[in-house]
Amino acid sequence: MNNIEISQIATLPTKYGTFKIQVFKENDKEHLAIFTDNVSDEPVVRIHSECLTGDAIGSIKCDCGEQLDYALKTIAKEGGMIIYHRQEGRNIGLLNKVNAYALQDTGLDTVAANHQLGFKADERTYEIVEYILNHFGMTKIRLLTNNPNKIENLKNIEVVERLPIVIVSNPHNAKYLHIKKEKMGHLL
Ligand SMILES: [Zn+2]
Repeated sequence: MNNIEISQIATLPTKYGTFKIQVFKENDKEHLAIFTDNVSDEPVVRIHSECLTGDAIGSIKCDCGEQLDYALKTIAKEGGMIIYHRQEGRNIGLLNKVNAYALQDTGLDTVAANHQLGFKADERTYEIVEYILNHFGMTKIRLLTNNPNKIENLKNIEVVERLPIVIVSNPHNAKYLHIKKEKMGHLL
């Protein structure tokens, strides 16, 4: 990949524990690696796609905030890395995501709303993720995910184990979680 700018490594104390952080800037997208000092040969890795509403505002329309919380707790305890992948709204961006939310307000599900806006159900790409894992010399990982497509998308990385994320559904995200399972093949 061309034009990747990499920051220094800095220490970030959090309510979960103390992590190291490093930014990988790809064009206008600034991806973040959050990691611990004690990284094993087969580290626990979470590839977390940006979801501003879920991660920062406490939205319970999706399960992103809960998944990030679970991942940070797990990495703090077991060591490993979270790649905070700046592909908001499955890579359609925040504006389009909110337009899709507006369509969902009229009764469409998350996949149908994306299609109506001219997008695929999932527009994410994973080249930068592989770049970051390669940068850290991680070739075998234990991937924290409910999404088997993520394993298929990591072509040059061996996923030796899939670790599930256990999320409790609520009345707002129950339909979203159901669609993820039925239409997008997630293992919930
Ligand atoms: Zn979300």
